[in-house]
Amino acid sequence: MSTTLEKMKILTDSAQYDLCDYVSHNKSSQVNLPGIYEATGHNGCKIPLFKTLLTNKCKNDCKYCINQSKRNFTRLELSPEALAKAFLGYYNRGMVNGLFLSSGISGDVDYTMEKQIETVHLLRNKYGYDDYIHLKVVPGASKDSIKRAMALANRVSINIEAATPSGLAELSSTKDYNKDILKRLSWINRYQHKSTTYPNFTHTTQLIVGANDESDKEILQRMEKIYNKSDLKRTYFSAFTPIEGTEFASKEACSTDRTAKLYNADSLVNEYHYNVKELVFDENDNLLLTQDPKILAAKNMDIFPVEINSAPLIELVRVPGIGVKSARQIISIRKKMPFTNKEQLRKLGVVVDRAEPYIKISGEFQTTFDF
Ligand code: SF4
Repeated sequence: MSTTLEKMKILTDSAQYDLCDYVSHNKSSQVNLPGIYEATGHNGCKIPLFKTLLTNKCKNDCKYCINQSKRNFTRLELSPEALAKAFLGYYNRGMVNGLFLSSGISGDVDYTMEKQIETVHLLRNKYGYDDYIHLKVVPGASKDSIKRAMALANRVSINIEAATPSGLAELSSTKDYNKDILKRLSWINRYQHKSTTYPNFTHTTQLIVGANDESDKEILQRMEKIYNKSDLKRTYFSAFTPIEGTEFASKEACSTDRTAKLYNADSLVNEYHYNVKELVFDENDNLLLTQDPKILAAKNMDIFPVEINSAPLIELVRVPGIGVKSARQIISIRKKMPFTNKEQLRKLGVVVDRAEPYIKISGEFQTTFDF
């Protein structure tokens, strides 16, 4: 084989289930070249990234994965130099704003990490590339390689894949949940402020949802534990899709409605500091697909209606229709002048129609309390 472009097509297809976006994992519709995916930035803008594997050879047997060892398809590997040049070909033409680099584990774990690090090192130090890089840490990576990856990247991530050791054992016989994954995640967290070079460095993780029997509650409880103990920025939820040639080929796909609800609930835990026990689950410990987790949680709380002019942040953010940013603005503004009507809240971005059953303004109820 074959041209670098043909190789890139195969390697970027092999990377499609590593998520770089929580809104979608679609390829960019703007450019018909392999590997260009859109990530959503802080302000909702779309950022094109080049997402690829260094190799799709993998010794592991993750039963859901397109690259797992038992699957029969074209395997190949690019050299760090070839990959760095292929990426720069896109970047220098303004087609992408960053690199998302991952890899199958073709042999030794540290060999895989070294090849990824070498690629990024070439970009940073030989070619002077200074823009965004997200680098995947592979399970079982050494402490030293993780530190060096962190010094070169703007973001690193290790996929935890499952919420529990038994959940991971359903998916793979070759990865140890506590030793290969959680321990490495804790190292990333420990070295976050010592080994990084880029000021807005973050780390993230990803789970596959619906490939094992874990419930939404188990998933959110695991994430709550991790958020409480670390600076993990966010979690990506990959909806399981059956792939031909894998052990899970005939398993039912996970709906993106389920992952959308998990994203909602996860943001309540991560950004709004809800306890998972405040959320409402069905009899199987899953979120209710037809209802907003924040409204359901609010119906179970006895703090409402809260007074806009005196409620603490932790109560304001529990009001449906009030986000973290608008809650902070409310607290800042009311120090100078109390709120007197809901139009003042609307101007801050509060969704007043959702919020009004849950609030009082200067002692006045805003609507009939309907539960
Ligand atoms: S380690 Fe597992 S999930 Fe990662 S590429 Fe290999 S088979 Fe796929």
